[in-house]
Amino acid sequence: MEQMYRAFLIKYGEIGLKGKNRGYFEDCLVKQVRHVLAPLGEYHVAKEQGRVFVECPEGYDYEDTVKAISKVFGIVGFSPVVILESTEWDDITKKVGDYVDALYEDKTFTFKCFAKRGNKDYFKTSPEICADLGEALLNRFPGISVDVHNPQESIFVEVRNRTYIYSKTIPGPGGMPVGSNGKAMLLLSGGIDSPVAGYMISKRGVYIDATYFHSPPYTSERAKQKVIDLARIISAYTGPIHLNVVNFTDIQMYIYETCPHEELTILMRRYMMRIAEAIALEKDCLALITGESIGQVASQTMQSLACTNAVCTLPVMRPLIGFDKQEIVAISEKIESYETSILPYEDCCTLYVADHPVTKPRIRDMEKSEELLKEKIDDMVKTAIETREILRIVPE
Ligand code: ATP
Ligand code: MG
Repeated sequence: MEQMYRAFLIKYGEIGLKGKNRGYFEDCLVKQVRHVLAPLGEYHVAKEQGRVFVECPEGYDYEDTVKAISKVFGIVGFSPVVILESTEWDDITKKVGDYVDALYEDKTFTFKCFAKRGNKDYFKTSPEICADLGEALLNRFPGISVDVHNPQESIFVEVRNRTYIYSKTIPGPGGMPVGSNGKAMLLLSGGIDSPVAGYMISKRGVYIDATYFHSPPYTSERAKQKVIDLARIISAYTGPIHLNVVNFTDIQMYIYETCPHEELTILMRRYMMRIAEAIALEKDCLALITGESIGQVASQTMQSLACTNAVCTLPVMRPLIGFDKQEIVAISEKIESYETSILPYEDCCTLYVADHPVTKPRIRDMEKSEELLKEKIDDMVKTAIETREILRIVPE
């Protein structure tokens, strides 16, 4: 049944796509569709007449293709299309009939035909195509009937240099095409929250780069691999991600040795934000993104958030700020990062965590503690940034 489809017709959101940016938005969408389909084969993706058309290679996998296209932000819906290599009228009526026969098991629905012509010299006008096709379908399937006002099924036929037939629409994820709204730096850890945060900002058309703070040997290679895997999972939505892996061990140890232990988490988070911001600025990112949510852990109380926020000048986007864990988990399951996120390998925050971390830190106190780090910290930060590893992550 699915083998009859040779192409997909993509419809995108109109609201964000009006005006002089339209062409640019469409280019972003085309680029992203190409990106998600690249691992699956040689698809032909083109922009034409206010929509995007995807032609599939011989022997392509329907399910995989639908799954990949379903992840492209900006798509409202897409239709699998049957292509007929002919514009002969008899061929068209036969093919549309065969299509209806194959697609609809229960042939008792109401329908309406919609037609378009690419070539105005075609011997029938669009209304004539609709009327004659409707009649042919009624003759072949006595149980169906026409309802021009409120049809259950809309059958589209476009006659160009060949004929395109479609009726079914698969919902897309909505949002805006990635790249249409600049770029931001995601602080990506191995947890549940940050991949979801990256997904949500990306959905608004923002390109994502990521930074992960790694503390070998206290965090294992497997913990790093888990972050790489998470980046790969979300890259099916976000496009390619440059993942910056920053070695955070020396900074973490230095804070641990020098400052009050109950402040360790907040001080570490402040250095993470500073380093992520420095890399973000280098890479033309316009904001930072974290997976924080008010009150979730000690480092995410209102006071703690104020302390980590205070070291940044770029806007810090926290799309999960008002979400409960269950709501975050639900998105994480939907985008298929959950199973990877719950693998047990610790990320660096879980080491050296004090029994009673401060829950109401004050910016002034944090600054005072950081004074103690004065001697070496700037060099350490510089080294951490310079020696970072940069990985380019794309979907499998
Ligand atoms: P997550 O599930 O995203 O790991 P979390 O509940 O573990 O979040 P925290 O550990 O307090 O929360 O981290 C808050 C945010 O700080 C994370 O969502 C992430 O954006 C960032 N972050 C924490 N640890 C790291 C790390 N090792 N590397 C990069 N970013 C991190
Ligand atoms: Mg975490």
